Amino acid sequence: MLVFPQPHSIAPSGETIVLAENGKPTCSLVLADDAHPLERAAAELLATAIAEFGGERPGIASLPGVGVAIYLGESARVAGAFTGETPVPDQPEAYAIVAKGDGIALLGSDPPGTFYAAQTLRQMVREEQGRVVLEGASITDWPDFRYRGLYIESKWGPDLMGLQDWRDLIDYLAGLKFNSLGIGIYCCWCVQYEGKRTEFLMVPFPDHPELQTPKTIQYYSAKDGEWRALSYLPPMFEEDFFGEVVAYAKSRNITVRPHFNGPGHTTLIPTTHPEVAAKSAAGNPEPYGYCLSNPQTYELLFELWDSVIDRYLTPNGVDWFHMGLDEIWVSVGVDEDDPERAVDPWCKCADCRQSSPNELLTEYVIKATQHLASKGMNNITIWNDHLAHYGLLNDELVAKLEQAGVRDKVILQWWRYDEPVLEIPSDLGLRAWTTPMPGYYFWLFTQSYTSNIYPHLALGYRAGAEGTDAYCVFDPAYDRNYTCLAEYAWNQTSSGDLYQFKSRYARKVMGTSGFDAVEPFEKWDQVYDSMPLVGSTLDILLPYWHTYSRAREVYPRNVVRALLDDQLRSMRTYHRARTHLRRARDFFAARRDGAPDPGLIDEYLFEC
Ligand SMILES: [Zn+2]
Repeated sequence: MLVFPQPHSIAPSGETIVLAENGKPTCSLVLADDAHPLERAAAELLATAIAEFGGERPGIASLPGVGVAIYLGESARVAGAFTGETPVPDQPEAYAIVAKGDGIALLGSDPPGTFYAAQTLRQMVREEQGRVVLEGASITDWPDFRYRGLYIESKWGPDLMGLQDWRDLIDYLAGLKFNSLGIGIYCCWCVQYEGKRTEFLMVPFPDHPELQTPKTIQYYSAKDGEWRALSYLPPMFEEDFFGEVVAYAKSRNITVRPHFNGPGHTTLIPTTHPEVAAKSAAGNPEPYGYCLSNPQTYELLFELWDSVIDRYLTPNGVDWFHMGLDEIWVSVGVDEDDPERAVDPWCKCADCRQSSPNELLTEYVIKATQHLASKGMNNITIWNDHLAHYGLLNDELVAKLEQAGVRDKVILQWWRYDEPVLEIPSDLGLRAWTTPMPGYYFWLFTQSYTSNIYPHLALGYRAGAEGTDAYCVFDPAYDRNYTCLAEYAWNQTSSGDLYQFKSRYARKVMGTSGFDAVEPFEKWDQVYDSMPLVGSTLDILLPYWHTYSRAREVYPRNVVRALLDDQLRSMRTYHRARTHLRRARDFFAARRDGAPDPGLIDEYLFEC
């Protein structure tokens, strides 16, 4: 039984249960009249899954109708349907399923548990000789990480997603039993294209029309045979639908957490509000960083954060907020007039010089978390890297957070996308999430990050991390990475090792087993599963890193010349990578039409 993530306990009965025959349902879904919205969503999900094979939708009612009764949530308890046979684990989001010929019961420890039971049963439904069937089984299941999800950066790609794209994404995540979705709403990077800084703001601030990030992309249209320009604001910003995304996610048991970065990764606010910007030694406002001695800095930031909380979070009952805090370092490429100039984000004004950057940052963390807590935010996430690098993650900081009344609200997100894998200290006394990467640079060669995801989650679980969300820019071609993340976020104790996961995944995607299922992925992995190979040898062929800040060069001149010289004989590597990918492509193509999801095979074909 190929279910992702794999349930903790499945006992198949060997019985085949028929849910529809000749396009007519032979089952009905039973739901209490006052069922929780998530239980109703569970019933809708199953009705859709059964009708997906070309038949009618089974009815949903408070009493059993024709054929096999499928009881969901409270109705299973009331009907006494098989309760006691398979106890539901006593923890959030757990569930039990009993599927027998005379009835099916899906019972959660809470409404999300019943929703996840339906997500499991949905994957068990299949077509067999004109009938829609599933294999009888008793299942008990629960999540090993309390919080599981993706963090989607404000970046190229997400900035062009419309409301329906976000809804589709949320349905996909819910299918993998993710319950958390971080969304970047403000973050900035260095000068890259057209001599402009790379700034993204995904929500409008009505009182601050100066805060917006219009873009113009120049691209060559192969279809039209000429260069085109696309000028736009992010649809999420222009149509102001972030609140609708938060509400839709909630209807799928997913909590959306906005991510507002700073005091690194911020250039839009300092350049539009020079009064709060970090000052140079000569007293001039810098395009990057904040003056943390100026009360106006806090006033402006808190005004913006409050606006996000009041408009989008509190109305939806969300008490999560990410305040960034990564990579507060000297940076080139932030001054558009002089991109080669290194700019220090630490202010040099007379007041700031009274304190060290570490003292200023500690004060910032305390003030900011206290303010967010006063606005009802009970879960405040911050990146670990800067605090860890400067030795600030110590008992002293924990004591200060305790004194400020926020220690139990602060969560450190431990991230690293390279080796060696980051190990979370288990004795720090702060809540922790582990953050691997499941794919980000969709504009470069695709990349398998399973060798980053698998150890991060295994070690994070051992260290007692309560959650995991992976940092990404969403692309359906990263499906195996997302599925791997879902697998080990949900099931650390009985899902098997990474090799077993890859084998199960190959069987699911290819709709077959053995050589024909595994061979395309084996050849794919020879090229795309190596972080060192993809991240350097392959990606250097493409323009991206050649346009990035200090490394700016004229593309593709230098790459072509280097290839022609071939002093390191790397051409041989490229030829061999091509040979592997051609073989993978041929195997994917051969099974494309018979695969369970041809669209997913198309993603793999494209990347090959
Ligand atoms: Zn200052």
